[in-house]
Amino acid sequence: MEINLISDTVTKPTPEMLSQMMKARVGDDVYKLDGSTNELEAAVADLFGMEAALFFPSGTMANQVAIKLHTQPGEQLICDASSHICNYESGGPAFHSGVSCATIVGDRGRITAEQIKSVYTDCSNIHYPETTLVSLENTTNKGGGACYDMKELVKIKELCDSLELKLHLDGARLWNALVAKQLHPKQFGELFDTISVCFSKGLGAPIGSVLVGSKKDITKAIRLRKLMGGGMRQTGYFAAAALYALKSNVSRLQRDHYRAKQIELILAKQSWIKEVLPVQTNIVVFSLHDRVGPALFLEKLKQKNISISEMGSGLFRIVTHLDYREVMHEYVIESLSNLEL
Ligand SMILES: *Cc1c(COP(=O)(O)O)cnc(C)c1O
Repeated sequence: MEINLISDTVTKPTPEMLSQMMKARVGDDVYKLDGSTNELEAAVADLFGMEAALFFPSGTMANQVAIKLHTQPGEQLICDASSHICNYESGGPAFHSGVSCATIVGDRGRITAEQIKSVYTDCSNIHYPETTLVSLENTTNKGGGACYDMKELVKIKELCDSLELKLHLDGARLWNALVAKQLHPKQFGELFDTISVCFSKGLGAPIGSVLVGSKKDITKAIRLRKLMGGGMRQTGYFAAAALYALKSNVSRLQRDHYRAKQIELILAKQSWIKEVLPVQTNIVVFSLHDRVGPALFLEKLKQKNISISEMGSGLFRIVTHLDYREVMHEYVIESLSNLEL
């Protein structure tokens, strides 16, 4: 039994999902002739109460197109210092949009309206870049799956309105936040100019993200996606997988969250653990006691056929997902409890 907990992107399509993919209504999506992709885009736009949506091959491309939509070269966006858009997208904001990132050290990847206000710069002083965009992440990746409180998001939206800033949400794992906080997608649609969501993480589809926004922004986004090389043809096979995932795999995320919580509780009891971040969704981030070598720790897990990831700065990450079944979970709990380091 191989147990891969490095990410929730490692899942493979189930037979049910594959059967839906085989029934996709496909056509050339560059000509907007792909039935299943059109259906997915309409369904996701409707779910968020937004005017339009666009299918992307990756969350990275969806985020980078959003940044390009909302900014001009030389301007500045504000985000958390650990955010995916400025750490894990290969320097995309500088490369694609020519913008700089003003970063804030938030609480587990979450920033506040007050912090945003403190780094905001306008064009009245010629030395400063003009801030035009705020980008948030929910749930946070490096912050260990932490979720924003609605109250803070409303404050941030009010601040952005008053300063005429655009607001983007990197919602790669927004599905997890919706389930954990029992919120409706429309509550997010009301606050953000654009939102990217992933289907290839917790929801278990093989490929695909969707960007939602206004009709005007999404029309522009079609061109930017083409510019970045993301205009694709018979995407319906993937859209059908995403539609199936949306129907079948959202509420089950609770099970991933429950298992992650159990892993946190077991880890917290071990003598070789320094700290475990309180689990809110499907990510467990923790550090080892100073006397324990990271390489030995990973090797011991590897001997038990368990893979997890190392995030740098002494942090480790475990992510629960659709292919992590109950038998595996029982085995992992037992293995962690008996691990001698
Ligand atoms: C995974 C992820 C993305 C998108 O990643 P892709 O691999 O490009 O789909 C974006 N933001 C966050 C926070 C992520 O975890």
